[in-house]
Amino acid sequence: MIDFALTLRDLYLAQARIAPLVRKTPLVSSPALAKLSGSEITLKLENLQETGSFKPRGAANKILSLNPEVRERGIITVSSGNHGRAVAYVAHRLGLRALVFLADNVPANKLNAIQKLGAEVIVQGKTYEEASEEAYRLMAKEGLEMIHPYNDPAVIAGQGTIGLELLDEFPALDTVIVPLSGGGLLGGIAFALKSADPGIHVVGVSMERSPAMVESLRAGRVVEIVEEPTLADALAGNIHPCDYTFPLVQKTIDATVLVSEEEIASAMNFALEEHHLVVEGGGAVALAALISGKVKHLGKHVAVVVSGGNVDMSVLLKVAREHPSGR
Ligand SMILES: *Cc1c(COP(=O)(O)O)cnc(C)c1O
Repeated sequence: MIDFALTLRDLYLAQARIAPLVRKTPLVSSPALAKLSGSEITLKLENLQETGSFKPRGAANKILSLNPEVRERGIITVSSGNHGRAVAYVAHRLGLRALVFLADNVPANKLNAIQKLGAEVIVQGKTYEEASEEAYRLMAKEGLEMIHPYNDPAVIAGQGTIGLELLDEFPALDTVIVPLSGGGLLGGIAFALKSADPGIHVVGVSMERSPAMVESLRAGRVVEIVEEPTLADALAGNIHPCDYTFPLVQKTIDATVLVSEEEIASAMNFALEEHHLVVEGGGAVALAALISGKVKHLGKHVAVVVSGGNVDMSVLLKVAREHPSGR
Protein backbone atom coordinates (compact mmCIF):
# COMPACT_ATOMS: atom_id res chain seq x y z
CA MET A 1 0.00 0.00 0.00
CA ILE A 2 1.06 3.55 -0.64
CA ASP A 3 1.28 5.67 2.49
CA PHE A 4 -0.42 8.90 1.50
CA ALA A 5 -3.18 11.37 2.43
CA LEU A 6 -5.55 9.34 0.27
CA THR A 7 -7.26 5.97 0.32
CA LEU A 8 -8.71 3.91 -2.49
CA ARG A 9 -12.10 4.59 -0.96
CA ASP A 10 -11.56 8.33 -1.63
CA LEU A 11 -11.29 7.51 -5.33
CA TYR A 12 -14.56 5.55 -5.28
CA LEU A 13 -16.25 8.36 -3.35
CA ALA A 14 -14.95 10.80 -5.95
CA GLN A 15 -16.28 8.62 -8.75
CA ALA A 16 -19.78 8.65 -7.26
CA ARG A 17 -19.64 12.37 -6.44
CA ILE A 18 -18.53 13.59 -9.87
CA ALA A 19 -20.60 11.17 -11.98
CA PRO A 20 -23.31 13.75 -12.83
CA LEU A 21 -20.72 16.24 -14.12
CA VAL A 22 -18.20 14.14 -16.04
CA ARG A 23 -18.16 11.50 -18.73
CA LYS A 24 -16.86 7.99 -18.53
CA THR A 25 -14.54 8.37 -21.50
CA PRO A 26 -14.02 5.72 -24.17
CA LEU A 27 -11.12 3.31 -24.38
CA VAL A 28 -10.21 2.51 -27.97
CA SER A 29 -7.69 0.01 -29.19
CA SER A 30 -5.12 1.05 -31.76
CA PRO A 31 -4.24 -1.68 -34.28
CA ALA A 32 -1.71 0.67 -35.92
CA LEU A 33 0.16 1.16 -32.64
CA ALA A 34 -0.07 -2.55 -31.85
CA LYS A 35 1.67 -3.25 -35.13
CA LEU A 36 4.29 -0.62 -34.43
CA SER A 37 5.03 -1.68 -30.84
CA GLY A 38 4.18 -5.39 -30.74
CA SER A 39 1.92 -4.86 -27.69
CA GLU A 40 -1.81 -4.40 -27.22
CA ILE A 41 -2.31 -0.62 -27.14
CA THR A 42 -5.42 1.05 -25.77
CA LEU A 43 -6.02 4.78 -25.76
CA LYS A 44 -7.95 6.40 -22.89
CA LEU A 45 -9.67 9.35 -24.55
CA GLU A 46 -9.83 12.20 -22.07
CA ASN A 47 -9.77 14.61 -25.02
CA LEU A 48 -13.46 13.59 -25.29
CA GLN A 49 -14.11 14.52 -21.64
CA GLU A 50 -16.40 17.48 -20.86
CA THR A 51 -14.42 20.70 -21.61
CA GLY A 52 -11.91 18.74 -23.73
CA SER A 53 -9.55 17.55 -20.98
CA PHE A 54 -9.57 15.30 -17.89
CA LYS A 55 -9.46 18.33 -15.55
CA PRO A 56 -13.19 18.45 -14.60
CA ARG A 57 -12.70 15.19 -12.68
CA GLY A 58 -10.46 16.78 -10.07
CA ALA A 59 -12.12 20.20 -10.14
CA ALA A 60 -15.60 18.71 -9.64
CA ASN A 61 -14.45 16.46 -6.80
CA LYS A 62 -12.79 19.37 -5.00
CA ILE A 63 -15.66 21.82 -5.48
CA LEU A 64 -18.34 19.27 -4.50
CA SER A 65 -16.33 18.44 -1.36
CA LEU A 66 -16.37 22.05 -0.11
CA ASN A 67 -18.64 23.12 2.64
CA PRO A 68 -21.66 24.88 1.01
CA GLU A 69 -21.02 28.28 2.70
CA VAL A 70 -17.44 28.30 1.44
CA ARG A 71 -18.61 27.33 -2.02
CA GLU A 72 -21.27 30.06 -2.13
CA ARG A 73 -18.67 32.78 -1.45
CA GLY A 74 -17.06 31.83 -4.73
CA ILE A 75 -14.07 29.99 -6.06
CA ILE A 76 -10.85 31.16 -7.63
CA THR A 77 -8.16 29.46 -9.61
CA VAL A 78 -5.06 29.98 -11.71
CA SER A 79 -4.50 27.92 -14.78
CA SER A 80 -2.60 27.43 -18.01
CA GLY A 81 -6.06 26.98 -19.58
CA ASN A 82 -7.59 23.53 -19.18
CA HIS A 83 -8.00 23.59 -15.41
CA GLY A 84 -9.54 27.07 -15.61
CA ARG A 85 -12.03 25.83 -18.15
CA ALA A 86 -12.86 22.84 -15.95
CA VAL A 87 -13.42 25.07 -12.90
CA ALA A 88 -15.55 27.43 -15.00
CA TYR A 89 -17.57 24.47 -16.26
CA VAL A 90 -18.21 23.05 -12.79
CA ALA A 91 -19.07 26.51 -11.41
CA HIS A 92 -21.47 27.06 -14.31
CA ARG A 93 -23.20 23.72 -13.72
CA LEU A 94 -23.52 24.41 -9.97
CA GLY A 95 -24.40 28.11 -10.29
CA LEU A 96 -21.28 29.38 -8.46
CA ARG A 97 -19.15 32.48 -8.93
CA ALA A 98 -15.75 31.62 -10.43
CA LEU A 99 -12.66 33.75 -11.02
CA VAL A 100 -9.99 32.39 -13.32
CA PHE A 101 -6.49 33.88 -13.49
CA LEU A 102 -4.51 33.24 -16.66
CA ALA A 103 -1.08 34.36 -17.85
CA ASP A 104 -0.98 36.31 -21.11
CA ASN A 105 0.59 33.35 -22.95
CA VAL A 106 -2.71 31.43 -22.66
CA PRO A 107 -3.89 30.16 -26.07
CA ALA A 108 -6.84 32.18 -27.38
CA ASN A 109 -9.11 29.14 -27.79
CA LYS A 110 -8.72 28.30 -24.09
CA LEU A 111 -9.40 31.87 -22.95
CA ASN A 112 -12.52 32.14 -25.12
CA ALA A 113 -13.94 28.86 -23.85
CA ILE A 114 -13.54 29.97 -20.21
CA GLN A 115 -15.26 33.28 -20.89
CA LYS A 116 -18.14 31.53 -22.66
CA LEU A 117 -18.82 29.50 -19.51
CA GLY A 118 -19.49 32.73 -17.63
CA ALA A 119 -16.41 32.82 -15.39
CA GLU A 120 -14.67 36.12 -14.58
CA VAL A 121 -11.36 35.94 -16.43
CA ILE A 122 -8.32 37.94 -15.34
CA VAL A 123 -5.32 37.82 -17.66
CA GLN A 124 -2.28 38.92 -15.67
CA GLY A 125 1.45 38.37 -15.90
CA LYS A 126 3.77 36.82 -18.44
CA THR A 127 3.96 33.42 -16.79
CA TYR A 128 1.85 31.07 -14.73
CA GLU A 129 3.82 32.19 -11.62
CA GLU A 130 2.94 35.82 -12.07
CA ALA A 131 -0.73 35.00 -12.62
CA SER A 132 -0.59 32.77 -9.56
CA GLU A 133 0.76 35.49 -7.26
CA GLU A 134 -2.11 37.78 -8.17
CA ALA A 135 -4.68 35.02 -7.74
CA TYR A 136 -3.48 34.25 -4.20
CA ARG A 137 -3.58 37.94 -3.33
CA LEU A 138 -7.20 38.26 -4.44
CA MET A 139 -8.14 34.98 -2.77
CA ALA A 140 -7.00 36.33 0.59
CA LYS A 141 -8.62 39.72 0.04
CA GLU A 142 -12.04 38.42 -1.02
CA GLY A 143 -12.21 35.25 1.08
CA LEU A 144 -12.49 33.01 -1.96
CA GLU A 145 -11.62 29.30 -2.09
CA MET A 146 -8.58 28.36 -4.21
CA ILE A 147 -9.05 25.36 -6.46
CA HIS A 148 -5.51 24.22 -7.17
CA PRO A 149 -4.88 22.42 -10.48
CA TYR A 150 -3.07 19.44 -8.91
CA ASN A 151 -1.69 19.89 -5.39
CA ASP A 152 -4.78 18.85 -3.46
CA PRO A 153 -5.84 15.35 -2.33
CA ALA A 154 -9.41 15.95 -3.58
CA VAL A 155 -8.12 16.95 -7.02
CA ILE A 156 -5.76 13.96 -7.13
CA ALA A 157 -8.62 11.62 -6.13
CA GLY A 158 -10.76 13.06 -8.95
CA GLN A 159 -8.03 12.47 -11.55
CA GLY A 160 -7.56 8.99 -10.05
CA THR A 161 -11.05 8.01 -11.24
CA ILE A 162 -9.39 7.52 -14.66
CA GLY A 163 -7.43 4.69 -13.03
CA LEU A 164 -10.67 3.11 -11.73
CA GLU A 165 -12.17 3.24 -15.23
CA LEU A 166 -9.02 1.65 -16.68
CA LEU A 167 -9.15 -1.21 -14.18
CA ASP A 168 -12.85 -1.75 -14.91
CA GLU A 169 -12.58 -1.88 -18.66
CA PHE A 170 -9.00 -3.06 -19.23
CA PRO A 171 -8.19 -5.27 -16.23
CA ALA A 172 -5.29 -6.91 -18.08
CA LEU A 173 -3.25 -3.70 -18.31
CA ASP A 174 0.37 -3.98 -17.17
CA THR A 175 1.72 -0.60 -18.34
CA VAL A 176 0.24 2.90 -18.31
CA ILE A 177 1.78 5.89 -20.07
CA VAL A 178 0.64 9.25 -18.68
CA PRO A 179 1.35 12.93 -19.47
CA LEU A 180 3.13 14.55 -16.53
CA SER A 181 3.26 18.13 -15.28
CA GLY A 182 2.22 18.92 -11.69
CA GLY A 183 1.51 15.23 -11.16
CA GLY A 184 -2.17 15.21 -10.16
CA LEU A 185 -3.04 13.14 -13.21
CA LEU A 186 -0.19 10.66 -12.92
CA GLY A 187 -0.36 10.52 -9.12
CA GLY A 188 -4.10 9.79 -9.09
CA ILE A 189 -3.95 7.16 -11.82
CA ALA A 190 -0.85 5.50 -10.34
CA PHE A 191 -2.47 5.44 -6.90
CA ALA A 192 -5.50 3.59 -8.29
CA LEU A 193 -3.49 1.14 -10.38
CA LYS A 194 -0.81 0.39 -7.80
CA SER A 195 -3.48 -0.18 -5.17
CA ALA A 196 -4.82 -2.93 -7.45
CA ASP A 197 -1.39 -4.28 -8.43
CA PRO A 198 1.91 -2.67 -7.39
CA GLY A 199 3.50 -4.39 -10.39
CA ILE A 200 1.74 -2.18 -12.94
CA HIS A 201 4.44 -0.14 -14.70
CA VAL A 202 3.79 3.62 -14.61
CA VAL A 203 5.55 5.82 -17.17
CA GLY A 204 5.35 9.64 -16.98
CA VAL A 205 5.96 11.76 -20.06
CA SER A 206 6.86 15.46 -20.33
CA MET A 207 8.22 17.66 -23.10
CA GLU A 208 11.96 18.26 -23.45
CA ARG A 209 11.35 22.01 -23.12
CA SER A 210 11.31 22.88 -19.41
CA PRO A 211 10.03 19.64 -17.85
CA ALA A 212 9.70 20.88 -14.25
CA MET A 213 8.56 17.61 -12.65
CA VAL A 214 11.09 15.42 -14.43
CA GLU A 215 13.95 17.77 -13.49
CA SER A 216 12.69 17.76 -9.90
CA LEU A 217 12.49 13.95 -9.79
CA ARG A 218 16.08 13.80 -11.02
CA ALA A 219 17.24 16.30 -8.41
CA GLY A 220 15.27 14.60 -5.62
CA ARG A 221 13.66 17.94 -4.73
CA VAL A 222 11.45 20.52 -6.41
CA VAL A 223 13.56 22.73 -8.67
CA GLU A 224 12.79 25.95 -10.53
CA ILE A 225 12.84 25.93 -14.31
CA VAL A 226 12.74 28.73 -16.86
CA GLU A 227 9.58 28.32 -18.91
CA GLU A 228 10.17 27.87 -22.67
CA PRO A 229 7.39 27.89 -25.25
CA THR A 230 6.17 24.43 -26.27
CA LEU A 231 3.37 22.78 -28.24
CA ALA A 232 2.52 21.07 -24.94
CA ASP A 233 1.32 24.33 -23.33
CA ALA A 234 -0.88 22.41 -20.85
CA LEU A 235 2.25 20.94 -19.27
CA ALA A 236 4.34 24.12 -19.10
CA GLY A 237 5.43 26.09 -16.04
CA ASN A 238 6.85 25.54 -12.60
CA ILE A 239 5.29 23.09 -10.19
CA HIS A 240 5.31 24.60 -6.76
CA PRO A 241 3.52 24.07 -4.53
CA CYS A 242 3.55 20.31 -4.99
CA ASP A 243 3.98 18.98 -1.48
CA TYR A 244 1.19 16.42 -2.13
CA THR A 245 1.96 15.44 -5.69
CA PHE A 246 5.78 15.41 -5.59
CA PRO A 247 6.12 12.64 -2.96
CA LEU A 248 3.23 10.72 -4.53
CA VAL A 249 4.81 10.85 -7.99
CA GLN A 250 8.22 9.97 -6.52
CA LYS A 251 6.74 6.86 -4.91
CA THR A 252 4.59 5.66 -7.78
CA ILE A 253 6.45 6.46 -11.01
CA ASP A 254 8.64 3.76 -12.58
CA ALA A 255 10.12 5.67 -15.51
CA THR A 256 10.09 9.06 -17.21
CA VAL A 257 10.38 9.94 -20.89
CA LEU A 258 10.97 13.34 -22.51
CA VAL A 259 9.65 14.04 -26.01
CA SER A 260 10.72 16.67 -28.55
CA GLU A 261 8.47 19.24 -30.22
CA GLU A 262 8.82 17.24 -33.43
CA GLU A 263 7.69 14.04 -31.72
CA ILE A 264 4.72 15.81 -30.15
CA ALA A 265 3.65 17.20 -33.54
CA SER A 266 3.94 13.78 -35.20
CA ALA A 267 1.82 12.22 -32.46
CA MET A 268 -0.87 14.89 -32.86
CA ASN A 269 -0.90 14.16 -36.54
CA PHE A 270 -0.98 10.41 -35.98
CA ALA A 271 -4.06 10.81 -33.76
CA LEU A 272 -5.73 12.94 -36.41
CA GLU A 273 -4.97 10.72 -39.40
CA GLU A 274 -5.20 7.30 -37.82
CA HIS A 275 -7.95 7.80 -35.25
CA HIS A 276 -9.65 11.02 -36.42
CA LEU A 277 -9.00 12.51 -33.02
CA VAL A 278 -8.15 16.12 -32.22
CA VAL A 279 -5.42 16.02 -29.57
CA GLU A 280 -3.55 19.01 -28.14
CA GLY A 281 0.24 18.97 -27.63
CA GLY A 282 0.07 18.27 -23.88
CA GLY A 283 -2.50 15.55 -24.56
CA ALA A 284 -0.26 13.87 -27.13
CA VAL A 285 3.00 13.42 -25.18
CA ALA A 286 2.25 9.89 -23.94
CA LEU A 287 1.37 8.87 -27.49
CA ALA A 288 4.56 10.56 -28.71
CA ALA A 289 6.65 8.58 -26.20
CA LEU A 290 5.18 5.32 -27.47
CA ILE A 291 5.46 6.14 -31.19
CA SER A 292 9.07 7.31 -30.82
CA GLY A 293 10.01 4.01 -29.21
CA LYS A 294 11.35 5.81 -26.14
CA VAL A 295 9.38 3.73 -23.60
CA LYS A 296 11.58 0.96 -22.23
CA HIS A 297 10.12 -2.16 -20.60
CA LEU A 298 6.84 -1.80 -22.45
CA GLY A 299 4.45 -4.49 -21.23
CA LYS A 300 2.05 -6.56 -23.30
CA HIS A 301 -1.12 -4.64 -22.40
CA VAL A 302 -0.58 -0.91 -22.51
CA ALA A 303 -2.91 2.00 -21.75
CA VAL A 304 -1.95 5.40 -23.17
CA VAL A 305 -3.67 8.40 -21.60
CA VAL A 306 -4.69 11.01 -24.18
CA SER A 307 -5.28 13.83 -21.74
CA GLY A 308 -6.74 16.71 -23.77
CA GLY A 309 -7.87 18.04 -27.12
CA ASN A 310 -8.01 21.80 -26.72
CA VAL A 311 -5.73 22.85 -29.53
CA ASP A 312 -6.13 26.09 -31.44
CA MET A 313 -7.36 25.19 -34.92
CA SER A 314 -4.64 27.23 -36.62
CA VAL A 315 -1.98 25.31 -34.64
CA LEU A 316 -3.54 21.96 -35.53
CA LEU A 317 -3.69 22.84 -39.23
CA LYS A 318 -0.06 23.96 -39.16
CA VAL A 319 0.96 20.70 -37.47
CA ALA A 320 -1.00 18.67 -40.02
CA ARG A 321 0.69 20.51 -42.91
CA GLU A 322 4.21 20.45 -41.53
CA HIS A 323 4.36 17.02 -39.92
CA PRO A 324 2.69 14.50 -42.23
CA SER A 325 2.87 11.11 -40.57
CA GLY A 326 3.76 9.45 -43.86
CA ARG A 327 1.11 6.81 -43.45
C1 LIG B 1 -3.18 19.57 -16.80
C2 LIG B 1 -2.89 18.70 -17.94
C3 LIG B 1 -1.92 17.67 -17.87
C4 LIG B 1 -1.01 17.46 -16.67
O1 LIG B 1 -1.69 17.18 -15.48
P1 LIG B 1 -0.91 17.33 -14.10
O2 LIG B 1 -1.88 16.87 -13.07
O3 LIG B 1 -0.53 18.77 -13.94
O4 LIG B 1 0.32 16.48 -14.19
C5 LIG B 1 -1.76 16.84 -18.96
N1 LIG B 1 -2.48 17.02 -20.10
C6 LIG B 1 -3.40 17.99 -20.22
C7 LIG B 1 -4.14 18.13 -21.49
C8 LIG B 1 -3.65 18.86 -19.14
O5 LIG B 1 -4.56 19.83 -19.28
